[in-house]
Amino acid sequence: MLKNLLGKSLAYRLTAFMVLVVVITLGIAIFLYIYLEKDFASTTAEYQFSLIDRTFEELISYTNGKDHSIQPQHIIEKLGENASIHYITLYNNNGKPIISSVSSLQEPLSAKKLKELESLSYNHSITAMSAKTLDYIAPIKLRVSCRQCHANGSTLGFIKISSSYTTLYGHTYDMAKKLGFIFLAALLVFGVASIFISELIVVRPLKEFVALIHKAELNNFLPRSKLTRQDEIGEIEDNFNQMLSRITNLMATSVEKERELVFVKEELKYKELLEARSEQIEKVNKELEESVKELSMLFNFGQYIISTVDMNELLRIITTAIVDTLNYKECAILFKEDNLLRIVSAWGFEDNAKLIGIEFSLEEGISGSVASSGKPMLINDTSKESRYLHYKGQIQKEGAFLSVPLKYKNTVIGVLNVSNDIPGSLTKKDIDFLTAISAQIAVVIENASLYEQTKELSITDDLTGLFNRRHMRVILDKEWERANRYSQPLSLLMLDLDLFKGYNDKFGHLRGDEALAILSQIIKMNIRGIDVPIRYGGEEFLIILPDTSSAGATATAEKLRKAIADAFTQNNIPTLTISIGVVSYPEQVFETIHEFLYASDIALYEAKRRGRNTTVNYDGKSMQENNK
Ligand code: GH3
Ligand code: MG
Ligand code: MG
Repeated sequence: MLKNLLGKSLAYRLTAFMVLVVVITLGIAIFLYIYLEKDFASTTAEYQFSLIDRTFEELISYTNGKDHSIQPQHIIEKLGENASIHYITLYNNNGKPIISSVSSLQEPLSAKKLKELESLSYNHSITAMSAKTLDYIAPIKLRVSCRQCHANGSTLGFIKISSSYTTLYGHTYDMAKKLGFIFLAALLVFGVASIFISELIVVRPLKEFVALIHKAELNNFLPRSKLTRQDEIGEIEDNFNQMLSRITNLMATSVEKERELVFVKEELKYKELLEARSEQIEKVNKELEESVKELSMLFNFGQYIISTVDMNELLRIITTAIVDTLNYKECAILFKEDNLLRIVSAWGFEDNAKLIGIEFSLEEGISGSVASSGKPMLINDTSKESRYLHYKGQIQKEGAFLSVPLKYKNTVIGVLNVSNDIPGSLTKKDIDFLTAISAQIAVVIENASLYEQTKELSITDDLTGLFNRRHMRVILDKEWERANRYSQPLSLLMLDLDLFKGYNDKFGHLRGDEALAILSQIIKMNIRGIDVPIRYGGEEFLIILPDTSSAGATATAEKLRKAIADAFTQNNIPTLTISIGVVSYPEQVFETIHEFLYASDIALYEAKRRGRNTTVNYDGKSMQENNK
């Protein structure tokens, strides 16, 4: 337990050590004190007896041998002068006290003591010793001079001296005591100071240091020793501080590394995530790109196919666009008419024209099935499909084939077929895409067909506002009948623009159209109200002049020819002229209206033949022969 207690603190150990030192010092002091005291006592005794000797000598020399009686009283007085002697007692030879400096007489000396004293020469014996007194008893030996008066024997008597310590050595004793106290106090102060100093210099810094170590044990490496000292502890603290710095550095590095690791891990995670996302984005982008491409193709296709309402032109545009723009090898459009499917347009085949007009029944082939069911059909390999008819033997080869219905308002109006040379090269995407464009195609086809129907119903021509050729027949029939019934003359002017092809090539088709419109205006302005101008063909016009003979008709023709040449003159050079064929009835006799009309054509050809920009009157069969 003591060991435990001492082991706990350096201060305790130091204290214990100091206590031990004090105890040992005290022990030594006490031993020395006792040992020296004895020595001191005997020294004192010797001193005392030398004193007695001297006193006796003095007394003897004083008496100078004359009076040998040395009075005991005298001795006592003489010795009593010495302050250190407490009291003196003189004994006779028998040990009986004869005189004493103190009133009370002392006990006689025992026989045993006497014997003991006898044997002493000139010596003494310490009889008692206390803290305060030292008692000596010694025989008074006879000196030579004494023997003159005193009987033989060795001893005169005995003397007992009781000395006072205090008186004798009081001062020294006090000094010793004081020194002892001082020594003890110094020892105490030294002890306390040692403890305090050790506490201050060693223990406290060590405690602080230990606290620091404890903190470090608990992974708190940031606190540092203050380093206020340069001794060994300071050195240890400095080293420890350096170690802590290294540890904190290491920890910082490890924390940094850990963070880096976490960061790298996170980064890796995000990178993976990002890669996955970017893959996804790329995929979506690709899909988007494709659908944008598809949409733009659809849009362009849509724009493209609404550029005309002319059915033949439209069908041609559709099939060529599908082959050239949408990259299918071949394309054909079949119209449904009653219970038949008829190829109306084809593109990409070896001989497209050969396919036009081929008919299928609705029970026949893939197209028949598609037209009947209204659902698209994809043939991955035509060489393995028995229902595939190879366009009735026109095409015999392997490849992929897709047929989609052309539906307008849920009614199948036809079928759109595409094919490629490579089996399996058409997919569901093609079905979706072609189904989408087939809806557009169906609408424009329906539109064109409606336009055609409307056009057939109309009597005027859009560009010129003149009557069209269909209506011409009605008017011509009527006028022919009237001329015959009322025997009135009837003339026809057949006009054709000279070298109009070149004009188109030079100025463009639109300017050509403009010229046709202007020309029709000039015609209208230069004829009478009852005259009927008709757009006979592209750049051919027929003017019916009722109640007009050959002269009137020729004049009108010339007037027109000049007006037109004037209207289109640039820098004195006409850019556009017309040739006119004139025919008049009944000046020229015709059986039928067809002959009559034909004659105007003949005259026109004659005008062309004569060099154009001229008017030619029909002059009978000879002219017909010329122009055969
Ligand atoms: P010619 O003197 O022999 O008549 O020569 P031409 O070039 O006029 O020959 P032709 O009468 O055979 O050719 C008719 C040309 O007229 C062809 C075509 O370019 C043009 N044409 C026909 N109809 C139209 C139309 O509606 N608009 C435009 N701009 N040109 C047309
Ligand atoms: Mg012509
Ligand atoms: Mg012409």
